[in-house]
Amino acid sequence: MATPEERLMQWLSDAYAMEQHAETILTTLAQRTGGYPELKAQIERHLEETSRQAEDIRTCIVRRGGDTSTVKNLIGKFIALGQSLSGVLVSDEIIKSTVATYAFENLEVASYKVVIAAADALGDHETKVICERILREEEAMAHWLDRHLPSTTLRYLGLEETVITAAP
Ligand code: MG
Ligand code: FE
Repeated sequence: MATPEERLMQWLSDAYAMEQHAETILTTLAQRTGGYPELKAQIERHLEETSRQAEDIRTCIVRRGGDTSTVKNLIGKFIALGQSLSGVLVSDEIIKSTVATYAFENLEVASYKVVIAAADALGDHETKVICERILREEEAMAHWLDRHLPSTTLRYLGLEETVITAAP
């Protein structure tokens, strides 16, 4: 069984991989939200936050004596969650992508709650404070998506209707 210190390091590495995957998801989504300017702006704003989060987590890992060079191997763990964002072009892709992103933000929320509890118990105040700030950003993004899923759905249905009526 790993020591609590080793476990915290593993969870920080998982968080680093999670943020790198989040950058991929959000970059892809930002490119596909042309008809949804509010959603696109929010995705781009959170993409900037996400890049900073990844760098801040990397700093926590290095400060605790860890190494981020092997972290890329962990990214595959999160690929399944992003699969609906990748290849297949489905007609309601924007809705499925937004739903998948909402689920991912909540995965981040839960993951940071675990890291914060472990950092607190081990007296790593700096890691705790950094992860508490990141947690607030993830919660804000989850709440934004929560509030905008209904309007995004209606907009999608409206656009679909326009396409149908425009067809000969
Ligand atoms: Mg994040
Ligand atoms: Fe996030």
